[in-house]
Amino acid sequence: MKDTSFVQRLMEFVEADLDASSSRRFAMGFYMECVPAYDEAIIQIGREHGVDETELWEKIREFQSEWRKALDWIEERKGRNYQIEFLEREVFSWTFGEKPSFTLGAAESEEGKLDVIIYNLSGWTGKSFGADEKASCPKEEKTFPPGARRLFSALDGLPTFAIGRCGNCGQWFFNPTKREKVYCSPVCRNRANVRKASQRKKKGAEAP
Ligand SMILES: [Zn+2]
Repeated sequence: MKDTSFVQRLMEFVEADLDASSSRRFAMGFYMECVPAYDEAIIQIGREHGVDETELWEKIREFQSEWRKALDWIEERKGRNYQIEFLEREVFSWTFGEKPSFTLGAAESEEGKLDVIIYNLSGWTGKSFGADEKASCPKEEKTFPPGARRLFSALDGLPTFAIGRCGNCGQWFFNPTKREKVYCSPVCRNRANVRKASQRKKKGAEAP
């Protein structure tokens, strides 16, 4: 059973308004779930000693911005032919091929973050390659925030459109269906359609 609820919550977290009290409880819960245990202990001690939560919220904000950057990074590479290999412990692969899919696993590094090395395989077919071929591929390195292992194992095998940004409001969304989605919600789809229709009308009116 895939942990797709984690992906859903991650999308909610990156879009959460951390200044709004209604989002705070959720954001805090999600952060606690992802951060390593020692971080959690520090927060707990801080609370017991009456330390204000400003520092904690700074951490959560930072975590949110790290995740936004990580998702942007993934988004930029979608639909291209890449293989991502995770450093540390085991070797996994993540291929965006003709049949777009995530085929990957993940391994956490010592810092509780995921290190990724990505090889550009443009024009190259096949899912795995030998050491010599790896050396000739341009390398790109990336460290992911805590929780990436869960994200990647949940995305494994899903189409690349499983995560994306709304064509209307720009928010991140998770799409667990088999159909590609451009908008995060029916509301956004309607708004975009209305806008397109009025643009067409305008164009029509301007034409001689
Ligand atoms: Zn939207």
